[in-house]
Amino acid sequence: MMEKPEELKLIDENGYRIDGRKKYELRKVNMKVGVLKNANGSAYVEWGKNKILAAVYGPREIHPKHLQRPDRAILRVRYNMAPFSVEERKKPGPDRRSVEISKVIRGALEPAVILELFPRTSIDVFIEVLQADAGTRVAGIVAASLALADAGIPMKDLVSACAAGKIEDEIVLDLNKEEDNYGTADVPVAIMPIKNDITLLQMDGYLTKEEFLEAVRLAIKGAKAVYQKQREALKERYLNVLQEEE
Ligand code: ADP
Repeated sequence: MMEKPEELKLIDENGYRIDGRKKYELRKVNMKVGVLKNANGSAYVEWGKNKILAAVYGPREIHPKHLQRPDRAILRVRYNMAPFSVEERKKPGPDRRSVEISKVIRGALEPAVILELFPRTSIDVFIEVLQADAGTRVAGIVAASLALADAGIPMKDLVSACAAGKIEDEIVLDLNKEEDNYGTADVPVAIMPIKNDITLLQMDGYLTKEEFLEAVRLAIKGAKAVYQKQREALKERYLNVLQEEE
């Protein structure tokens, strides 16, 4: 988050944001499940200008072996940003931010996956950010959760996610890059809707307690809308499988 230039207005006098959205409007979200031939499960998500691919391998044998757990599978997550995903070429490979995001995404997905069914194995999730425009961790969670379902891994619920934040003294849904840069706060949230559980909750920036609660409630609403789209994308996937078999 950076100091906002005086003349930049993130919300105009008619209440519209720079990309034409209203305060509580999501960016366009499109998803497709089962997009890769060589992974056990996969999904592609376009969320505004974000483009994110998730692939899952497993349950499979763990290397190195000492990571094996006798009573359950382990879940490993790697979030990676492509060098061409941002305006200035990003140096390839892991950095502090991607290590942190991999860790929090793992924490967001783990409560949903029934790991006890697959002792001594690993389930590996790869999230590749091809194009980034703020909100990649929530979009990554959404893609990863679809890819896990596509891999046939038993889950208690799909994990859905969305962020809310503060720009121009207003709490708004789903910040884009410019809003994230010049806004005051960003609150990404992941949920398991059936269980009514929150599996990720972070805050970057400054909010009062009331504003924080408003942002969390709004992000949950956004995540519930995204959840419906995830269910539709999965149904679509299985309709395609049925048609291929006919
Ligand atoms: P999130 O993508 O989950 O919102 P951040 O708040 O850390 O995570 O990042 C916000 C946005 O900043 C990213 O989506 C991306 O557009 C941009 N960004 C992140 N890292 C870099 C980087 N190394 N170079 C350029 N832009 C970046």
